[in-house]
Amino acid sequence: MLKTIREVLRTGNATVQYPFAPVKRPEYARGKPDHDSEKCLACSACAVACPPNSIQTVVDITAGKTTWSINYGRCIYCGRCQEVCPTGAIKLSPEFELAVMNKSDLEETCVYSLASCSECGEFFAPAKAVDYAARILSRSRGDDEHMRRAIELISVCMNCKQKHDAYRYWEKSKQAGELLC
Ligand code: SF4
Ligand code: SF4
Repeated sequence: MLKTIREVLRTGNATVQYPFAPVKRPEYARGKPDHDSEKCLACSACAVACPPNSIQTVVDITAGKTTWSINYGRCIYCGRCQEVCPTGAIKLSPEFELAVMNKSDLEETCVYSLASCSECGEFFAPAKAVDYAARILSRSRGDDEHMRRAIELISVCMNCKQKHDAYRYWEKSKQAGELLC
């Protein structure tokens, strides 16, 4: 018995007092992803990359809205969302104490507007993502024909783009004398 007590005194405290005292985390510890709704473009890259579907986006074409949501209860702190986000709108924080009394308190949602097509008026993509792409393209404006067309068609929906492409193909074929009409 005396030997055991001596050994305990020699060893000291081998455990930490958490949760009664703060726990020291390593610098690289991963915690809850923080989402900045201002920086977010609603592009859905994080939703596509998220392995457990903790992040989801639901598009309502009729209402012209897209809803971005995160469920922290499903998050595995893998950091894929942070890696793929083009604007740094989502970043892992050191926070790991996420206990709540109500499961719904682990969910957050943000609603964003969709842009409407400049030709047919249909809603087609998150307005912030369209603006972001337009800003990037305008910075790289050059003589390249593909770049010029991309800038022209940035506010056009996929269906109208296909019509543009079909018309262009028809015109080129006509000029080359491949069409009879
Ligand atoms: S850290 Fe991983 S699991 Fe959590 S929201 Fe980001 S991608 Fe999803
Ligand atoms: S990847 Fe970034 S910008 Fe895109 S929806 Fe996720 S948080 Fe928002």
